[in-house]
Amino acid sequence: MTSLRPVRGTHDLVGEDLRRQRHVIETARQIAERYGYQEVSTPIFEFAEVFARPLGETSDVVSKEMYVFTDRGGDQLALRPEYTAAMCRAFISGAFGQALPVKLFGAGPMFRYERPQKGRLRQFHQIDIEVLGAAEPLADVEVIALGARILQALGVADEVALELNSLGDPVSRQAYRSALVAYLADHRANLSADSQTRLERNPLRVLDSKDEGDRAIVAEAPLLDTYFNEESQAFFAEVKAGLHALGIAFTVNPKLVRGLDYYTHTTFEFTTTALGAQGTVLAGGRYDGLIGMLGGPQTPGIGWAAGIERLAMLLATAPESARPVVVVPVGPASELAALALAEELRAAGHVVDYGFRGKVGQRLKRAAQQGARYALLLGEDELARGEVVVRDLEQGAQEAVPRSSLAARLAG
Ligand code: ATP
Ligand code: MG
Repeated sequence: MTSLRPVRGTHDLVGEDLRRQRHVIETARQIAERYGYQEVSTPIFEFAEVFARPLGETSDVVSKEMYVFTDRGGDQLALRPEYTAAMCRAFISGAFGQALPVKLFGAGPMFRYERPQKGRLRQFHQIDIEVLGAAEPLADVEVIALGARILQALGVADEVALELNSLGDPVSRQAYRSALVAYLADHRANLSADSQTRLERNPLRVLDSKDEGDRAIVAEAPLLDTYFNEESQAFFAEVKAGLHALGIAFTVNPKLVRGLDYYTHTTFEFTTTALGAQGTVLAGGRYDGLIGMLGGPQTPGIGWAAGIERLAMLLATAPESARPVVVVPVGPASELAALALAEELRAAGHVVDYGFRGKVGQRLKRAAQQGARYALLLGEDELARGEVVVRDLEQGAQEAVPRSSLAARLAG
């Protein structure tokens, strides 16, 4: 029965995989908090328009990847494919009050209908950072620094490199776009079919085409920064100076672009060679036009999203799960007392497993399977003496310990 399998590109997360993902989220949450970012969790589904309008009908996400459905009330809804538009919608809805800038952190599942492969799923997870209402280049610097610090705290900083670029302001960008279209039109016949379509709809995207033939053409294309006006140059210079001041290494990649019109100025990516084709772990940029395009007041924004699965794969070691203590009643008469002991230890902060059934031998076997360090055996004799038998499951030794010194014994 197919319906008993998880849907292609989705997983039941347990054990080490889940612990890795939780470690990524907890680390990011702590550092985001230290930077003064407030956590927000937006709904898993929204009106489809929230994503369709800003991302555009021609973007891959909207045209091919978005999970869209009509609900029972006839509304067109979409499973959240990314955080940025959702957070901007929440901002426009008045979720964060009026004081700008607003600094946001989020972590949660995203949904895209893609071909599943290593590091590419249909339900995946992102951590996300957004700053709304700050037009200053130092906001770009802070947002990138926050990403870099999270990668450092995860111990993956050596595995990734920061690439940086600027698209300039809308005026510079428009001037460049015209020059690029003119250049690409001359080479139209030699472009890949995909890039011919991009040329019509989204010419900047041709710059990051993976096709060999396209790359050769792109190598000779006019460069974005030669079309920068003074303001765009100054903005980019300040971002670079800020990163230098904070000791954050980067390389400028003039081909790093975002195709969507509401992106301006800074774009950046942290990439790795350790994950094969899915090399981008964290990607972001400035989107000063987005909130206005969604129908809100013109408000600048900058942020990034990072793939939790990809980060989890980069972690050198998986966080350990806590090893339980197992309480084992010896004989039916001490079952209730054993359960009460388990409760008492849990209240004192210990991780305690209680197995419900089986003889002592079977319970000890389960304890070993659980990775328990100690089994606490409690029979009528121990009860009468106010003791518990502590069995060290690693050493095999056991000793009777008075209840009053049990906590100290387990801590040691
Ligand atoms: P890619 O080029 O890998 O398709 P993207 O440009 O679509 O990425 P963004 O929308 O910028 O990605 O999302 C930010 C990050 O989320 C990516 O850098 C990646 O780490 C992660 N990500 C995106 N799509 C997926 C997916 N289908 N499965 C797992 N992680 C993903
Ligand atoms: Mg994608």
